[in-house]
Amino acid sequence: MNTYLIEEMTWPEIKAALEAGVDTIIIYAASIEQHGPQLAELTDTQLGYQGGIDLAKRLGNALVAPVIRPGLSKHHLSLPGSLTLRPEVFRGVVEDYVACYVTHGFKKIILTSSHGGNFQAIADIAKTEAAKYPDVCIVSGLSLAELTPALEELERIEGLEPGVCGGHACDWETSVMLHFTPQHVRMDQAERGFVGTPTPEVLERFFTDGVVAVSEIGVMGDPSHADGERGGRYFKYLQDIQERVVRAHIADWEQAHQ
Ligand SMILES: [Zn+2]
Repeated sequence: MNTYLIEEMTWPEIKAALEAGVDTIIIYAASIEQHGPQLAELTDTQLGYQGGIDLAKRLGNALVAPVIRPGLSKHHLSLPGSLTLRPEVFRGVVEDYVACYVTHGFKKIILTSSHGGNFQAIADIAKTEAAKYPDVCIVSGLSLAELTPALEELERIEGLEPGVCGGHACDWETSVMLHFTPQHVRMDQAERGFVGTPTPEVLERFFTDGVVAVSEIGVMGDPSHADGERGGRYFKYLQDIQERVVRAHIADWEQAHQ
């Protein structure tokens, strides 16, 4: 096959893939939400597709589900275009994806996120779904607790000012978008947003009062020097962690189900 995206395949192709040993489906939950003045609202969706395709290549026996969006983006609603689902609706969508792919015969389901606001919900849903389908290996991917220090480490590796990769419409996301789809980036509009330590107080304000309480342009970090080549390095570094986390969770499941 020349695609990993299940929505680009026909049902006979999917059936043949399953019979040939493809047993894993990767489900990314993304968002449709403001990403500062410089990035299109589909940013997390694009990152979900790119992350899914790359992870499928690495795992070798996997396909990628249609990226779920909108997600949980209440904290972005004050800027136009952002969509959010009620938490119970979001959970329902993810549960229905899982139910369908279980029916089709997938034996491993990876639930992960390309949007900060979804991480906790996805981890929780992965747990309850794993309990619901004990014969199917249902695991979550990279968590926010793993992503945040990885971004700080990337700032050090790249010799950048701490905080420029603040996690939303920042140097990281903007550079990765320049790497994959520069047509979705308006670099002439890129402006420095909140650059500082994401202390618990800052995060509390970000999630409770909304992003504009921290940055009125909706940017956590500084995208004004974003660079596509650096975006490629960011992407690979984070996908290395994603692969490690997913393989470890699958190994844990297999050990527990021997
Ligand atoms: Zn984003």
